[in-house]
Amino acid sequence: MYDLVIRGGMVVDGSGAPARRADVAIAGDRIMAIGDNIGTGRDEIDASGKIVTPGFVDIHTHYDGQATWDQEMAPSSWHGVTTVVMGNCGVGFAPARPDRQDWLISLMEGVEDIPGTALAEGMTWDWETFPEYMDALERLPRTVDVACHVPHGAVRAYVLGDREQPGAVPTDADIAEMSRIVEEGVRAGALGFSTSRTVLHKSVDGELVPGTTATPEELIAIGRAMGRVGYGVFEMASDLKREWNEFQWMGDLSRETGLPVTFAALQSIAKELPLDEQISEMRAQNDNGANIVAQIALRGTGIIMAWQGTVHPFRFKPAWVEIETLPWAGQLARLQDPAFKARMLAEENMFPESDVVELLHVIAGGWFAQFEMGPDFNYEPTPQESIMARAAEAGMSGAEYAYDLLMQDAGKGFIYFPILNYADGNLNFLEPLQGADDTVNSLSDGGAHCGTICDAASPTFMLQHWVRDRAGARVTLETAIKRQCRDTALLYGLEDRGMLAPGYLADLNIIDMAALKLGKPWLAFDLPAGGKRLLQKADGYVATVKSGQVTFRNGACQGIFPGGVIRGPQRVEYAQAAE
Ligand SMILES: [Zn+2]
Repeated sequence: MYDLVIRGGMVVDGSGAPARRADVAIAGDRIMAIGDNIGTGRDEIDASGKIVTPGFVDIHTHYDGQATWDQEMAPSSWHGVTTVVMGNCGVGFAPARPDRQDWLISLMEGVEDIPGTALAEGMTWDWETFPEYMDALERLPRTVDVACHVPHGAVRAYVLGDREQPGAVPTDADIAEMSRIVEEGVRAGALGFSTSRTVLHKSVDGELVPGTTATPEELIAIGRAMGRVGYGVFEMASDLKREWNEFQWMGDLSRETGLPVTFAALQSIAKELPLDEQISEMRAQNDNGANIVAQIALRGTGIIMAWQGTVHPFRFKPAWVEIETLPWAGQLARLQDPAFKARMLAEENMFPESDVVELLHVIAGGWFAQFEMGPDFNYEPTPQESIMARAAEAGMSGAEYAYDLLMQDAGKGFIYFPILNYADGNLNFLEPLQGADDTVNSLSDGGAHCGTICDAASPTFMLQHWVRDRAGARVTLETAIKRQCRDTALLYGLEDRGMLAPGYLADLNIIDMAALKLGKPWLAFDLPAGGKRLLQKADGYVATVKSGQVTFRNGACQGIFPGGVIRGPQRVEYAQAAE
């Protein structure tokens, strides 16, 4: 008798093979059999009419702080994710000298919009080195497995100390020490190294992430450290400025070490290379023996604007600045006052100095690019659904229409503003990329951008929109599941998951595709110290199983935490022996 049998579902196994009706038998943390008449289980789940998939593997998250205090790991775990890779984009919390802890928090708060007060209250800092951080992670089990990158920002600050200033040039000895620390982290089990090369990533004090202007020599030296260990993914967020010639060093690094290099590929105001050139430059390197993989998002990177969020269109108005620090009840009372509203709408914006001032203008008045976000919101909205179009129909100014949207639900209304990846006003450009084997589904940024973005639900969006509902070209269920499970797992050397087959880890989802539906996001104030974050649930997840144990039933956390810390690449001995 097995521990658990999932009976009668349509098994989408993650290999890309056609879905087939079968039972899945689990013992301990492993899948033992898939087929008909496989016997019974002590526990059984009826999956008839549902799909059965591997657990989702999300390789681009920022749960580095949250994972040290939180076992549920929402919102990713609410969307079928059973493995997260953290420490992306060069930011994280180890290594950390005691006198740099606050500084690392301000870096994470600035880059990823995770409330610093929550991080300061939530983290225990019972580590200094990277291996000690991994040990600290190991002490708290969760609903998901977590894996790490060693983040460049923390490493550079650790080695350079007070010399870490904008434009700092590390000495050869510094680079050797950084390489040693990265090698030590990877030997302790980190799956890669990450760096940030974008002006969009700054600390709350406006400092660029350490390493933003690192030379190719520094980056390649660090890549060699992973090469000495024999595994590790080099992850990067970059503005891809032409003069930096990023693809050349990414190609050189990957050819020399044999390791994959992966970067965020987006339509972005901050990126000098347009997306099609990002892809063609990558392919030119790959045709020449490199292994570069583009991380793509499945929808616009959408800022969710709200009075209580981090960003909304009126934040540059003097009237807003006046009430900015009031408690919410006080703000709401003012916002509901017609005279206050009239004054705010009539005022000129006062923009701060910024590298991205055009962007601030779009936030404060780009009504063509902003959309009402109701309960049945379509994340691929048409121009006719924009605030500009709706306001014109209603005979109102865009600003007044936007103000009224934010006032809905007693001041808890939302406006969706796809800041990246929506330059065309649709997602057609992602159609060919989702069929390519040099791209990988990513950029959910789970755990980050707490007051601005909630894309951790992207696996649900993939199934709801790209597989089921989209008006234009769609993605087959089998391809979508392979991309979100097997392809992401293999990029990071996790051969033991992302597939449903005997010997593989028993990480699964049972999903009612007909009922699958993203809920409306909401702002919760449930981080440590009352820190805010956007959360989003979904209907349709009948159950999620992690390492053979049911962690969620119908969206409810079961209080069972089988997830651990992944150390190094993972193999499937049993399945290999059977083949
Ligand atoms: Zn990121």
